[in-house]
Amino acid sequence: MLASSLGAWDGHDRITRLALQDVAWLDSLAPVLVTTRTDRVGQIRQDYGFPYKGERPGDRLPAREILIRYAMEPDEGPDQELHASWQQRFMGGYTGMSSSGYFHMYYPSWTVHFPLPATAMGASPERAALWCAAARRALLRGDTYWGLRYLSCAMHYVEDVGQPYHATQTSTLFVVPRDPIAGTTKVTGNYHLVYEAWIARRLAEESLDLAASLRGTEVERGSDPADAVRQVARKSHEQATQLFPACLQFFSRKFWQPVDVAAAEADLAQMEPASQRERIAAATRPALALTGRAVRGFLEPLRPAIQFSALHAGR
Ligand SMILES: [Zn+2]
Repeated sequence: MLASSLGAWDGHDRITRLALQDVAWLDSLAPVLVTTRTDRVGQIRQDYGFPYKGERPGDRLPAREILIRYAMEPDEGPDQELHASWQQRFMGGYTGMSSSGYFHMYYPSWTVHFPLPATAMGASPERAALWCAAARRALLRGDTYWGLRYLSCAMHYVEDVGQPYHATQTSTLFVVPRDPIAGTTKVTGNYHLVYEAWIARRLAEESLDLAASLRGTEVERGSDPADAVRQVARKSHEQATQLFPACLQFFSRKFWQPVDVAAAEADLAQMEPASQRERIAAATRPALALTGRAVRGFLEPLRPAIQFSALHAGR
């Protein structure tokens, strides 16, 4: 029912690259030996093949490059076609691309959402924990390549919920009274997608200081990876109260229709009115800064394991 984008900030590789850009210790690691996968990650789609993106076993890649290259991977199949929860019916369904949705969103329990507002919805926290555990196990057995690749996957989920639309099912601004569930879902999805793509364009051209918001060395940490994702979702959700009205004002009213409305080139290129554009940017910078801190917060606890693994194994 909720067929919304799974892209988060629409470019997890760029998000990860910027979030890690100022983390200097990554560059002191020797290039990592690319290995063949020897383990199994439970709960994901078991026929997912983990294709390599350019490198081959026996090659060597900088640690930083592995973390950047595989940040998209959770959107590329491992979370599709699974039957894990009744909530999936409301978060992308059980089949096709959108069936990842349940694993890539998180609506904190006190936020407004259907069908059960008192129940938190979405499995991003558990998913991040699953990949972090796989990363730690790989590093402990000296498989630095897969350790980093799984960690990159874990970072994906915290990047997702750092996008306010992934931590917020909808808003009263998007409610279609005559079609409150399906129609509202479409309207919210339209704004979600145009916002995400519009921000991706600004990030790529490094305008509006968005890229700078992601960078730095500060970290955001929870008591464990799942807790960290929940905390980020709660904070990102708070940004939605500024962001959603700003989106409604700035983007064309054509998106406020209970049908899928795709963003055109003109929508993505739009920069005026400047005051409304700045409102969107102002609501986005804190969410990006939070996302950057959270990504680094996933890396930091594994730093000793990564350094140990890179030094002692894979030679
Ligand atoms: Zn995702």
